Amino acid sequence: MSLRFYDTRHRAVRDFVPVIPGRASLYLCGATVQAPPHIGHIRSGINFDILRRWLSHRGYEVTFCRNVTDIDDKIINTAAAEGVPWWAVSERNQRAFTWAYDVLGCLPPTVEPRATGHVPEMIVLMRRLIESGHAYAAEGDVYFSVDSFPEYGELSNQRPEAMRASDDSSAPCKRDVRDFALWKGAKPGEPSWETPWGEGRPGWHLECSAMATKYLGAAFDIHGGGLDLVFPHHENELAQSRAAGDPFAQYWLHNGLLTVGGEKMSKSVGNSLLIPDLVRRVRPVELRYYLGQAHYRSTFDFSDEALAEAAAAYQRIEGFAARAVEIVGVQEPGEVPAEFAAALDDDLGVPAGLAVVHAAVRDGNSALAADDKDRAARHLAELRGMLGVLGVDPLAEPWAGSGDGSEAREVVDALVAVVLEQRQAARARKDYAAADAIRDQLASAGVLVEDTPHGPRWELKRG
Ligand SMILES: [Zn+2]
Repeated sequence: MSLRFYDTRHRAVRDFVPVIPGRASLYLCGATVQAPPHIGHIRSGINFDILRRWLSHRGYEVTFCRNVTDIDDKIINTAAAEGVPWWAVSERNQRAFTWAYDVLGCLPPTVEPRATGHVPEMIVLMRRLIESGHAYAAEGDVYFSVDSFPEYGELSNQRPEAMRASDDSSAPCKRDVRDFALWKGAKPGEPSWETPWGEGRPGWHLECSAMATKYLGAAFDIHGGGLDLVFPHHENELAQSRAAGDPFAQYWLHNGLLTVGGEKMSKSVGNSLLIPDLVRRVRPVELRYYLGQAHYRSTFDFSDEALAEAAAAYQRIEGFAARAVEIVGVQEPGEVPAEFAAALDDDLGVPAGLAVVHAAVRDGNSALAADDKDRAARHLAELRGMLGVLGVDPLAEPWAGSGDGSEAREVVDALVAVVLEQRQAARARKDYAAADAIRDQLASAGVLVEDTPHGPRWELKRG
């Protein structure tokens, strides 16, 4: 079976046929940097990081463009309230997003363009639309004429006559309430850029069309984003680019939204679910495993219990990997099992893929118990292949050594080995009190010792 995705525009699962054979171009609507990221933003980042990794695994040369919207009403308002320039707010929050993506092991995008760096490209696109009769300038604003584009509504599956007015419907200079702003005329005291139609700042929709086509070309493969962006943002991107004559995205992929206790995430709840707080409660790799485990199109309901369960599930995977390495040595990531590949090919079926992961762990554990080293080694290699695609291979960067620094880990390993030798010596002379005292002292230092048929092994106490 071939790689295929559910395409929002066609409302169907379609085989993936790239614009350029062997390549895959992916545009993801990234952060509007008004505030630091919460888990909803990062879930989307992880979903599309897995997509990108799977496309690479399938042999495509991937170009991944994830934009930053660095100007909007809220950024301007926050800056005014704090008495700092708008760009200081954008910069600060962009750093918070980059940190969160990095700490959760999302690969950096090939390019991460910022909206305000692409005003010339936006001017060119507006000129093309005005000259072809799809846009008009009015009192310093520039609007897209919805009536001029009969396919408007195709992405969100709405009939134009049933559509609601756009957000800026109060603007008296608009010809139709559905028309949306490509460009907003400058208001006193607000940041602005010069255009042939006056000073102003970009509308959100225009930015993404300009940046996507600059980096990925007039026709590119996949446009991604959250389900809440389908209308109006993506509908408007599609309309303005296609009206200008660009084929634009061939596939539209949307991740489901994140709820908390079954409710849409409110600001008060969202504020308690910021990434720096969450990665103090569980390790970053466990949080990534949790947020990445559901199907990208499903609604994700966050709960502390489910987070704890996911962390425990990941520790079982990691536990097998650690024990297997001790017995059979580190194995390089191998071919992924066919069932795993079939699951990921089928619209990125991560839950079905994880079932294959857990089966490999179970069978790997029984191979270790039976001292079947070949079978254990095979499972470890397969497991690493699968976990690499999901971005949670405990033996690969950035997780290897799991946050305690692999150099420090080596030193601790050597020191613990010295102490364990003394404990073995105490046991050999049947001085069990001394042996237990050594074990207890290690435990109080955070080192847990477990006796196994292959000798003692140790791990750091968590939490
Ligand atoms: Zn966008």
